Amino acid sequence: MQIDGLVRTFKQAGETLNVLRGASLRVEGGELVALVGPSGAGKSTLLHIAGLLEKADAGEIRVGGKLANALSDAERTALRRQSIGFVYQFHHLLPEFSAVENIVLPQMISGIAKSVARKRAMELLELVGLGARASHRPARLSGGEQQRVAIARALANRPKLLIADEPTGNLDHKTAEDVFAVLANLVRGGDFGALVATHNLDLAARMDRILELRDGVLVQH
Ligand code: ADP
Ligand code: MG
Repeated sequence: MQIDGLVRTFKQAGETLNVLRGASLRVEGGELVALVGPSGAGKSTLLHIAGLLEKADAGEIRVGGKLANALSDAERTALRRQSIGFVYQFHHLLPEFSAVENIVLPQMISGIAKSVARKRAMELLELVGLGARASHRPARLSGGEQQRVAIARALANRPKLLIADEPTGNLDHKTAEDVFAVLANLVRGGDFGALVATHNLDLAARMDRILELRDGVLVQH
C-alpha cells in the first residue's frame, strides 16, 4: 500500500482544520508499521482514507498496485473488501453470532462457500489461539479474546493490508502485550502489511518502523 501527498481539510464551526497536509507513506507486505501522534493529530482520519472508507481532498492511494483514486464507488468498495482488513479499539463483533460465525460472515459476503469459509475461520481461530472458543459468543470471551477474534475476522478475506486503530487501547497492559504478540506474529509470518495507530510507545518500538503524524505530515523515526 502506498499513499502520496494526502491532504484532508475539515470545516469545523466556521474554522478550517488542515488535518493532513501532504502525508505520504508506504507499507510493504510482512511489514508492521506504527502510526503515532497525539490525540487529534489525524491518525484515524489517515487510516480511514488508507482503508478506502473515506476520500481525501488530494493525494494518491495505491492498494495492491491499483490506484484507488481512479475507481468508481462500487469499485472502491470491492477493492476494500478484497484488500483491506480492519481492527478497531472496540471489537465490533456481532453479539448474536459465535466467534467462528463472526469470521465466516465476511467471507460469505465476498461470495465464498460456507464450508470453505468455515474451514478458513477455524484455521484463523487456531492461529490466534482460540480454536477451543469457536462456538462462544463475544459476551463469553474476555477483552483480549474478543480482540483476537476481531484480528482473525480482519484477516478472513486474505487482505493485503491490515489497518488497526488503537487495537490494544481498551486492554490492560499484559493483555495488550499478548494481543500485540498475536498480531505481530501473523503479520511477520504473512504476506500482508499492517498499519497500526497506537498510543502505546512500548509496542510502537517493537514494530518495524514508526511514523509520527506531526502537523499533518508523516515523519519517520
Ligand atoms: P486522532 O485519531 O489522531 O486522534 P482524528 O483523525 O480522529 O485524530 O481527528 C483529527 C482532527 O480532525 C480532530 O481535530 C478531529 O476533531 C477532526 N475531525 C475528524 N473527523 C472529522 C469530521 N468528520 N468532521 C470534522 N472534523 C473532523
Ligand atoms: Mg483516533
